[in-house]
Amino acid sequence: MTTTEPTTNQDWFDRARSFTPGGVNSPVRAFGSVGGVPPFTASAQGAWLTDVEGNRRVDLICGWGPMLLGHSHPDVVAAVTETASRMMCPGGPATGEVELAEEIIHRIPAIDEVRLVSTGTEATMTAIRLARGATGRDLVIKFAGCYHGHSDGLLAAAGSGLATLALPGSAGVPEAIASQTIVVPYNDIEAVRAAFVEHEGRVAAVITEASPANMGVVPPLPGFNRSLAELCHEQGALLICDEVLTGFRTGPAGWWGREQQDSETSGWTPDIFTFGKVIGGGMPVAALGASHELMAHLAPTGPVYQAGTLSGNPVAVAAGIATLRLADPAVYEKIDLAAGRVIDLVHTELNRVGLPHAVGRVRNLFSFKFGDGAALGWSGTDEFGNPAPLNEDEVKRQESWRYPAFFHAMLDGGVSLPPSIFEAWFLSAAHDDEAIDAIAAALPKAAEAAAAATAV
Ligand SMILES: *Cc1c(COP(=O)(O)O)cnc(C)c1O
Repeated sequence: MTTTEPTTNQDWFDRARSFTPGGVNSPVRAFGSVGGVPPFTASAQGAWLTDVEGNRRVDLICGWGPMLLGHSHPDVVAAVTETASRMMCPGGPATGEVELAEEIIHRIPAIDEVRLVSTGTEATMTAIRLARGATGRDLVIKFAGCYHGHSDGLLAAAGSGLATLALPGSAGVPEAIASQTIVVPYNDIEAVRAAFVEHEGRVAAVITEASPANMGVVPPLPGFNRSLAELCHEQGALLICDEVLTGFRTGPAGWWGREQQDSETSGWTPDIFTFGKVIGGGMPVAALGASHELMAHLAPTGPVYQAGTLSGNPVAVAAGIATLRLADPAVYEKIDLAAGRVIDLVHTELNRVGLPHAVGRVRNLFSFKFGDGAALGWSGTDEFGNPAPLNEDEVKRQESWRYPAFFHAMLDGGVSLPPSIFEAWFLSAAHDDEAIDAIAAALPKAAEAAAAATAV
């Protein structure tokens, strides 16, 4: 190492900013909404991150979802290493792609076939092209606050990243493309019905997060997804259930599978699923899945074109297969329990300092919203009986200006939270007592900092 080699997070961030816009390859990593310098990770193991300065912190981002088993699980690392030593990019089909497809389909009885891609963005983009190709219609309905990746047509009112930057959508998306997307409020079935009436016979698909987690966690009202599926099918449109984040994280069959276990929410089947994050186990793998009949529209069997040099890459799918095979019911039970413990700890501390808040939770996915929900007009209710937001408009009313103080107190206390209040917190099977105790130790100061914060 020469003396000019960067050694601190600040050095690395400065160097990064000279060579990459904002110093990052995905905007939220730049700490724009919380301020300060993002730690540059030197190593990630289990539930812990270590930065280039040697600071060790509990990780509550888990790669934004993929690291269900914790970072660098030995079996996943072994599968990746073994595969990479045999091949990295064969250019033709290889066995791992078939095995990963089977692992996914076995867990989701509602789909017959999958197509593997490399990112969630590609999965939802292809799902929409498939829906348009199959229905011969153009329009897509999406919900404000739901994120489906960064393809042109899906960036309208797309949740956390854009909310953090206070952008309504993105520059560079032609009006002709934006006008093909109709945005309606989440959890509002009448708004969806009205959009169908207004654009009768022209809607190809409704795309929804199975349970939204990209405006913070805002669970669907019981039966909302079922009503959505019924309405789509009544109108000859397809329902695209985006489980890129929730799939194989909120349960062995994703959030859809969880809803099928309860009569209040069961009895619906989307036409197309999208997956990502967990199915790659930390490597670039995503997928869309549907019936034989629908998937037959995709090239090479059908006229809807889609392709990818790195699609089904053997090294990447090896990580996904190893992750899914290890993700048994005990893993989900463990993470769900850990989530309950963390929620109780935060809820108790925020109550202690007298800071009103709401919890959004689906199983092990959760986030907190700051503010007095009654005064802010939140129309839902959380698991503690407090008012909670039901859609993006309500979410945005929260006292988000309290979050930077909370976030930095946690970071200084050894806990790495998502650097935006509009993001979910993620746990893994590696979050044990040591990790949860570390979170508990950091919380009192953070709760006090949030309570003492003043609006900017
Ligand atoms: C993360 C995410 C995407 C986009 O996936 P990328 O791999 O980041 O392109 C799409 N939909 C949902 C629900 C997501 O959470």
